[in-house]
Order: sequence, then structure tokens, then C-alpha cells
Amino acid sequence: MKKAIIQVNNLVKKYGDFEAVKGISFDVMEGEIFGLLGPNGAGKTTTLEIIETLRKKTSGTIIVDGMDLDKEPQAIKNIMGVQLQAAGYYPNLNLKQIIALFSGLYNKDIDPMALLDTVNLRDKAKNKFKQLSGGQKQRFSIATTLINEPRIIFLDEPTTGLDPQARRNLWELIKQLRERGATVVITTHYMDEAEELCERVAIVDSGKIVALSTPNELIDNLLASGFKRSKAVKEANLEDVFLNMTGKEWRDE
Ligand code: ATP
Repeated sequence: MKKAIIQVNNLVKKYGDFEAVKGISFDVMEGEIFGLLGPNGAGKTTTLEIIETLRKKTSGTIIVDGMDLDKEPQAIKNIMGVQLQAAGYYPNLNLKQIIALFSGLYNKDIDPMALLDTVNLRDKAKNKFKQLSGGQKQRFSIATTLINEPRIIFLDEPTTGLDPQARRNLWELIKQLRERGATVVITTHYMDEAEELCERVAIVDSGKIVALSTPNELIDNLLASGFKRSKAVKEANLEDVFLNMTGKEWRDE
């Protein structure tokens, strides 16, 4: 039986008079990829950043690996991998140096080149962050979440703006993280991505969870309610055409 590694109970976040998160509760099980889905402004990033200890909650409780976020934030930070904010990418350091700096800070013995390999950025090791393409920046940002060998990894829209090849390659990377035993919490606006990666998803709308289950069960429930697509679906889509014409390998090296 899997245990809950994150337990969020009745979480509320107010910005002034505005209630962005309205009392949500959910558990994330150890070893799963859990998706937070929802329209712009639904409260996903706010929820994620509260669990990451980057924002303060208004009320509610959060337990991570048995520890109360209010009492043991530092111990919780030690087991979490969070994408560095842009300020963490010291402008005068190259990618290899940034990873070396942070692995020193975390007291971890990480081989920067091996880590850059996992996101296909070995060739850019001597480049500065600002010299990377959008997709390369995203990949580097994911690599930085792995420096402290975390048990829980948070990815906020990790594939936004990437080309289809890079998205699919990052899906493989994210699955590998799970295979190594990590728990992954991800937000995305791509439903194909959520379907491909997530064991369970919570759909958040206007600060409330409106559905929480496996993608399969949510789809079956919708079909059971009599839902029919207005347009017949072909067995391939334009993305299949694109990938078929341009191949599956990384394209921006
Ligand atoms: P997106 O998909 O656009 O990233 P989101 O679901 O991550 O959206 P949040 O960024 O959590 O949404 O924002 C939730 C709501 O809270 C929005 O209405 C936003 O305007 C508001 N909000 C977020 N941060 C602040 C802040 N620092 N001060 C005031 N309001 C904020």
C-alpha cells in the first residue's frame, strides 16, 4: 500500500481580499506523478509554491513525509527539488559552474556533466543561461531540480513553449525520475501530457478542486454521462505528422 507523501488539508490562500485558493484538500502518493490542472489563474502555482515553502498560506495544514510544514520547513526543503528562480542563474557563471555551485551548497557530490547529459545539454556546459534557447532554458531548469537528489520534484509547466520532440523527450526524463523512485508534482496546460504522465490529476478551477482521479476514470465518467465529441477523431493528428516528418530526436543542439 502506497503512503501519502504530501497531505494538503483545507488549504486557503488570500491575496488581500481575494481568495485565490479556497480550502482545497488532496494527497500525493509516494512514487506517483501527480498533476495539477486548471485554467489560467486557477491557483495551481500558488498551491505549488506554498508546498514548496516559497509562499505563505493563509490557513490549512500541509504535511510532507510526516512533517508539518509550519514546524519543519527546512527538513521539508531538503527532500524537495524546486526549479530555481531566474535569480539563481548567476549571470557570470556557465551551466556547469551553476550546478557545481548548488551541489556544493546542498553538500552533494553531483557530476555536473552527467546531470547536463540527462537533459541533453552537455554541449552547452560552457554557455551562460542567457545564451540558451527557450527549450534549453526549460531543460536546464529541470536539471537544477535534481541537484539535491530530491524525493519530491515540483515542475511548474515544464514543457510550455517546447517543440514536440523536446516535449516528448522531457516526458521520458520525467518518467525516468519516477522510475528512480521520486514523486513528481507537475502543472501543465497540455492534457495529452497529463494523460501520458500522471497517475492521478486534480482539476482546479477558481481555487477549488472540481475533480480528482486517474485520467482514465475521469474520461470514463465523462463518457458514462453520455458525452460525445462533436467531431469524429482521426487516428493521427497534426503532431503525428510533424514528428513523422522531422524525427524524434532533440532539435535545438
Ligand atoms: P496559470 O495557469 O496562469 O499559471 P495558476 O493556476 O498557476 O495560473 P496562480 O498563479 O496561482 O494561478 O494565481 C491564482 C490567482 O491568484 C490569480 O487570480 C492571480 O492573479 C492571483 N495572484 C497570484 N499571485 C498573486 C500575488 N502575489 N498577489 C495578488 N494576487 C495574486
